[in-house]
Amino acid sequence: MSKHIFVTGGVVSSLGKGLTSASVGMLLERRGLSVKLQKLDPYINVDPGTMNPYQHGEVYVLDDGTETDLDLGHYERFTHSPLTRDSNYTTGQIYLSVIEKERRGEFLGKTVQVIPHITNEIKGVLHKLADDETDVVITEIGGTAGDIESQPFMEAIRQFALDIGKENCLYIHLTLVPYLKAAGELKTKPTQHSVGQLRQIGIQPDILICRTEKTIPLDDRKKIALFCNVPLDAVIEEKDKELSIYEVPLSLVENGLDELIVKKLNLKADTLDLDDWRDLIHRLRNPVREVSIAVVGKYAEHLDAYKSIYESLDHAGMQHESRVRIGKIRSEDIEKQGPERTLSGYDGVLVPGGFGDRGIEGKIRAVGFAREQGIPFFGICLGLQCAVAEFARNVIGLDHANSTEFNEDTPHPVICLLDAQRKIVDKGGTMRLGAQPTDLQPSSLAAKCYQTNFITERHRHRYEFNNAYRDQFESNGMLIAGTSDEGKLVEIVEIPNHPWFVAVQFHPEFKSKPTAAHPLFAGFVGSAIERQDSRSQRAQEIQV
Ligand code: GLN
Repeated sequence: MSKHIFVTGGVVSSLGKGLTSASVGMLLERRGLSVKLQKLDPYINVDPGTMNPYQHGEVYVLDDGTETDLDLGHYERFTHSPLTRDSNYTTGQIYLSVIEKERRGEFLGKTVQVIPHITNEIKGVLHKLADDETDVVITEIGGTAGDIESQPFMEAIRQFALDIGKENCLYIHLTLVPYLKAAGELKTKPTQHSVGQLRQIGIQPDILICRTEKTIPLDDRKKIALFCNVPLDAVIEEKDKELSIYEVPLSLVENGLDELIVKKLNLKADTLDLDDWRDLIHRLRNPVREVSIAVVGKYAEHLDAYKSIYESLDHAGMQHESRVRIGKIRSEDIEKQGPERTLSGYDGVLVPGGFGDRGIEGKIRAVGFAREQGIPFFGICLGLQCAVAEFARNVIGLDHANSTEFNEDTPHPVICLLDAQRKIVDKGGTMRLGAQPTDLQPSSLAAKCYQTNFITERHRHRYEFNNAYRDQFESNGMLIAGTSDEGKLVEIVEIPNHPWFVAVQFHPEFKSKPTAAHPLFAGFVGSAIERQDSRSQRAQEIQV
């Protein structure tokens, strides 16, 4: 029988519940236990697929095509937990399912209510992940204790312990212990209040993880323990990390979290092996060099919109013992100021995925600049579509070539709607989604990076390369480096007479891990390092 850990949060949002849940998963896995992770989100959207990444952060895509919350990206980067459709539920999905059952007459005329019907549905999704092979199911509850929206979830996880036995459940509550400059001290009251909210609904947390800027003095930990009704050793400090999120598991271990969980849930666990992870942190702390990459996006000012891209660049940096300095460039700034002013000085240019025409011309100019200047270029999804439009306009000479997403009347629709998309009107969950196989051209840079001619990568798009133009691209020097569906869909393009120019229709950033950088990100950052080396060598020669 699987044991269950519930991770809730209090005081404020953005405390890092996702990271903490992922870290707990990782530590238990590394103690020889099999874990599954799941996130329950209290908002009413059925999934985050239609939500604005500026507000909500990136939409993370799973192999099975589920569009999920970005926290699932942390789960995949930290653990081997198999994530599927059952790994992310929202209030919208729960209600949709209950209402569909009601329409089918499954409730036999009863009044359908939050308790028990909605809470039963929630408990059902908790049970879905539990099986004989899984030692621990970790469920993160989105939102903050006390929110109206999260009440049914809190009620369901309370009832759950009653159903399967408290000894099989563990409640971890993440709170904030803020430092008040004026008073010169840390404050425990918000934590007390937030635990109070949980206890009101009948949940007594077993472990408190306290996010803090400063070390929490023993007296304050004692105070938290007493007022929140938890033993002192269950008040775990999680101090802000200046360097990297990958330090979080190490600090939780230092504060005894893994041992505490193993003890409280009575798990049979191995001793912890973190050698490779410590090595990773060592490389992070001691980079041999710094390399700079410009990420040209629509939402450059917003960190979470390109979360997996930034993480993947960091992983590649760690592999090359380098720190990757990321320049967050707004494509509209390139439109106003030109690519020379915005992009000169960078060792690589990356154009990530996106939707809508705002800033598109800036992205296309960024590709042109990288192509002409021989700067390593990596295009991802929309980035490929921009690279194709740029090449069409400026190399082949097809004036005003564009994607029909941005100009329906373009004389040269080099990117157009996928056939399967033409009749679709609903926006939610209707793109080409999830893992799809791709055959690589054996002589391509991509095949060299992957070290294989056959790959599977995750997709999320509606538009594709227009095959009517394929010959013109190839005869003008663009290599179709990867295709799927028996050669019918173009998935990767390259420019062979350029130091490193690769654009892909899929999202490699969803499969990179800190311990195994994605081969294309590793290749891209490697080539940016080479460019930097040759530039500094040239500068030295000029000085001599
Ligand atoms: N908007 C483009 C499409 O739908 C690109 C999507 C993306 O970058 N994820 O095809």
